[in-house]
Amino acid sequence: MTTSVNGLNRFLASARPSATYGVMDRVAARRAQGADVISLSAGEPDFDTPAHVREAGIAAIRHGYTRYTQVAGMRALREAVADKFRRENGLDTDWRQTIVCNGGKQVIFNAIAATLNEGDEVVIPAPYWVSYPEIVQLCGGKSVVVECGVKSGFKITPALLEGAITARTRWLILNSPSNPTGAVYSRAELLALAEVLLSHPHVLVLSDDIYEHLIFDGLTFFTLAQVEPRLRERVLTMNGVSKAYAMTGWRIGFGTGPGWLIDAMGKLQGQQTSGASTISQHAALAALTGSQQFVSESRSVFQHRRDYLVRAINATEGLCCEVPQGAFYAFASCEGLIGKVTAAGKQLLSDEDVVNGLLDEAGVATVHGSAFGLGPYVRIAYALESAALQRACEAIGRFCERLSG
Ligand code: GLU
Repeated sequence: MTTSVNGLNRFLASARPSATYGVMDRVAARRAQGADVISLSAGEPDFDTPAHVREAGIAAIRHGYTRYTQVAGMRALREAVADKFRRENGLDTDWRQTIVCNGGKQVIFNAIAATLNEGDEVVIPAPYWVSYPEIVQLCGGKSVVVECGVKSGFKITPALLEGAITARTRWLILNSPSNPTGAVYSRAELLALAEVLLSHPHVLVLSDDIYEHLIFDGLTFFTLAQVEPRLRERVLTMNGVSKAYAMTGWRIGFGTGPGWLIDAMGKLQGQQTSGASTISQHAALAALTGSQQFVSESRSVFQHRRDYLVRAINATEGLCCEVPQGAFYAFASCEGLIGKVTAAGKQLLSDEDVVNGLLDEAGVATVHGSAFGLGPYVRIAYALESAALQRACEAIGRFCERLSG
């Protein structure tokens, strides 16, 4: 068999590019042309990284900490990560059972790539973060997408989970608080899922807790390995500094799980990117071990913005959304807009049309729900300051008012 010079790996060829980055790129291109676009698309806090964390990065450069670290991260950071999991999540772990990666995405990629064989299945509740199924696809696996609609609060139920598990199931991916819905699993809900998992000992679980600290209304965060210790030997609990400390660009994610899995992830990373940036690791160390005031302050800012956004969305004809309990996204149904015609004469046949209409005619960037596996919805990120959020909501309102049909 001959391959053309530009032939791609077949798994990559049929993977979709990241929809979230796709919208962010479009926003950047519009702005470069001079357009005034308000972005409700990017999944990253708008705050600056806390000053003491930035200073730790600068100090690392000044001290000459600019060489490689161990692939799985420098010992001091891995100890701080283990301490975070013990302190905040009640996980009985130690630094040898942790790994530091180049962002949370690499933790997930490492875990899936290290364990999946062709045809293995990964259960993914939808709506899901856009990258989960594509990572599975890139690793030759098969995503078993389980639709979890608004009726179950966008969460997988024990019955749905039971129905999705087969002999080929390798992983279940859980994400709480959820991107894109902000849904949060309670302790009781996790225990009910754990009950199902206990009867399927061949299933590993990836618990993506990256939005852990962005949880509202005084709710308490729980993670699967914490509520059901009997599952610990097959749960990879992942987290990172990106969302909690506004450090998306520093690219530091981490995880804890069974030793064999952490070792395999390290082996893979050692042949790929090596350790994460040494400078970023020093900054992450400062974030995890220093003052946690920023975390609670940003949580309360996000909660205020959420309240404003949810009111504005629900006051807009054709849109409606539940109150998200965490993260910084609202997942609004746009079913009421489907079939209508915009002021520029475009008919809205899908949530992607709605997102395109909002960008072209209202100057507001969002991401279509179908990219997250459930339409017709629009994901609205409220990670921007209140005045801009208000202008964006007003522009969305005007766009909807002008629709006809
Ligand atoms: N997690 C963020 C989002 O959903 C960042 C972009 C990405 O990696 O997808 O927007």
